[in-house]
Amino acid sequence: MPHDLVTLTVEDGVAYVELNRPEVRNAQNKALLVDLERIFTRLDADNDVRVVVIGGAGPDFSAGHDLKDAQSRSGFSVEERFEYEYRLYFNLCIRLLNLRQPTIARVQGNCIAAGFMIAAMADLIVCSDDAVFSDPVVHKLGAAGVEVLFHPWVLPVRVAKELLFTGRSIEANEAAALGLANHVVPRHELDAATREIATRIAAAPPFAVQMVKRSINRMQDIAGRGASLEAHFDTHMLTHFTNEWHDVVGDRISDALKR
Ligand code: ZN
Repeated sequence: MPHDLVTLTVEDGVAYVELNRPEVRNAQNKALLVDLERIFTRLDADNDVRVVVIGGAGPDFSAGHDLKDAQSRSGFSVEERFEYEYRLYFNLCIRLLNLRQPTIARVQGNCIAAGFMIAAMADLIVCSDDAVFSDPVVHKLGAAGVEVLFHPWVLPVRVAKELLFTGRSIEANEAAALGLANHVVPRHELDAATREIATRIAAAPPFAVQMVKRSINRMQDIAGRGASLEAHFDTHMLTHFTNEWHDVVGDRISDALKR
């Protein structure tokens, strides 16, 4: 029997959503993203859920999109790729960003590229001391970063540029110092620390919490976030069709397939 690619449990008003492909560092394939889409729809309509925690099973949060799975889309036309990525990469993230309930990303180990993109959509990030955040997509795939250019919205702009230009990672303590992560805790305390914050939020009047989240998100959208993220998506798509991308990604995907 194939196992669930995403698990959902609800306990005391807190929904725990967990990416569940630990054997491949929670690489996100199409089936996993479709499951996530279905779960977000369900949670958004569920009045009993007051807080959503998103995490990954095993030693890593997520290594990003599944390159083996992506290989099946290498022959996609512009139209097909646009439709696919807009739905399952861009819109899925924006839905998480604007989920009615407050969200917490519980991050351990590798949180790379599209893994980082999902974690960055959460309202709060709690991570373990072994967490590493990075977006090496410019360097490793020759594309203009990931689909949602969240970086300058969650990091000082020079740090965001350095991260993207150099492909370097941010470790847990630096993430906390930069305000990217709310808290860093030892690995064995991560679940309990996340649960404690989630429980505290769940105790607040839920409609007021949802409305204050709505206001903060709207404030950032008025500052241009929503429109600039949409604009970047189009620019990102352009870089899927450059000679540079074909050269770099051809090598990467054949490496990934060998593993
Ligand atoms: Zn893309």
